[in-house]
Amino acid sequence: MSIITGKTKLLGIIGDPVKHSLSPVMQNAAINHLGIDYVYVPFPIKTKDLTTAIRGFASIGVAGFNVTIPHKQTIIPLLSEVTPTAKLVGAVNTVWYTEMGWKGTNTDINGFLSPIRSLKRDWSNITPIILGNGGAARAVVVGLAQLGCLQIYVVGRDQQKLWRFIQSWRNTKLTATLSGYLWDELSKIIEETELLINTTSIGMSPNIDDSPVESALLTRLPKNAMVYDLVYMPNPTKLLKNAQQQGLIIIDGLEMLVQQGAVSLQLWSQKPVPIDIMTQSLQDHLNL
Ligand code: NAP
Repeated sequence: MSIITGKTKLLGIIGDPVKHSLSPVMQNAAINHLGIDYVYVPFPIKTKDLTTAIRGFASIGVAGFNVTIPHKQTIIPLLSEVTPTAKLVGAVNTVWYTEMGWKGTNTDINGFLSPIRSLKRDWSNITPIILGNGGAARAVVVGLAQLGCLQIYVVGRDQQKLWRFIQSWRNTKLTATLSGYLWDELSKIIEETELLINTTSIGMSPNIDDSPVESALLTRLPKNAMVYDLVYMPNPTKLLKNAQQQGLIIIDGLEMLVQQGAVSLQLWSQKPVPIDIMTQSLQDHLNL
């Protein structure tokens, strides 16, 4: 690790809890590789202390920070500017200091899009299915709309929450149309999609034998379908193992994790970021 001097600039991640965050591992690996004078640390901050903490960050000259659960939405009123995409998602995960004050954006969208953006598909003819309607699903919706998808299906387990999720995009600038389905309706729509995305935590370590979609149902996906699991621990998840066995294209959540962090570091440092170093640091840390 490089030496911390009186000139070292402070970056970090705020959340509660934050001790399991992988961001310090990959961000400091990249910072050391670039030889830039920054250090990235975890800041456990309770919701009741958020306003005080952000004011304090400004007074001690913190250069920027990532935001994780439960502050991704509640930070918004504390910022002087929020990018249009972060506004559309309704969540901020990256903040930096400007002359006007704190500015926030959402790099989960860039992270999500990174592994699929270069695939040659006619996105306007693909109706992706998103499993889950939580925070990550919001960034995925905006990402898919940016990609050119015109129609998106969202599958949720709670009718009220699902309805609120679908309603929340009405009268916004979202260019895609959303339709909501309950889980027992998945079998009716699965044959229509070439892109199935899991944004639930089903299958996440330690529940590594769980899968949001049973194998028999996966066989009904078109042969050229892609299965994208945002869960990155284990790697691959049961869902992706099953999909791979059926010859489907699989995309894991690790690249999204790295890419959202890389875009944040690029914003703070204004330097090209070593993606491979960040990925390797996580693979080493997670014994992948
Ligand atoms: P969240 O806001 O808590 O949303 C989780 C969603 O999953 C909710 O819609 C929840 O349904 C649903 N869900 C959870 N357990 C379920 C079950 N047993 N059956 C059906 N639905 C279930 O969490 P999040 O922030 O969106 O994160 C979701 C997952 O994505 C996590 O595993 C996280 O690690 C991963 N993620 C990965 C990245 C990455 O960079 N790769 C980025 C963000 C998130 P209810 O609303 O009904 O509770």
